[in-house]
Amino acid sequence: MTDQHIICSRCKCKYINDDKHIENDFGFNRLGERYKSCVKCRNKGNNYRENNKDKVKDYHHQYWIDNKETIMKNREALKQEAEASNGKILYCNRCYKNIPFDDFVCPNGKTYGACYSCLESRYG
Ligand SMILES: [Zn+2]
Ligand SMILES: [Zn+2]
Repeated sequence: MTDQHIICSRCKCKYINDDKHIENDFGFNRLGERYKSCVKCRNKGNNYRENNKDKVKDYHHQYWIDNKETIMKNREALKQEAEASNGKILYCNRCYKNIPFDDFVCPNGKTYGACYSCLESRYG
């Protein structure tokens, strides 16, 4: 005799043990195996990740607001340093760092508003 209920491994809720309910409440993975935790628990995990993504974004945004003047001042200082270097170093508008000319110039010999590694990570 099979058990009448399946217990979710995470929330310990009982679910009815028949094909229709299992499909609704648990679902199956790619291999056709029933998930050990119920749909609700698995969604909770996803939401948690989603919520945290927003939190991280908020944190960065708040940091930017709180430190805007310092950040801008630092960037301005870097820019001036780059300008004073006679082209030996250049200021990257994307990673906000001073980069040696060799790492700034692209294989075609041109320079753009960003260092080569920033351009590469975007287009490469
Ligand atoms: Zn559950
Ligand atoms: Zn860069």
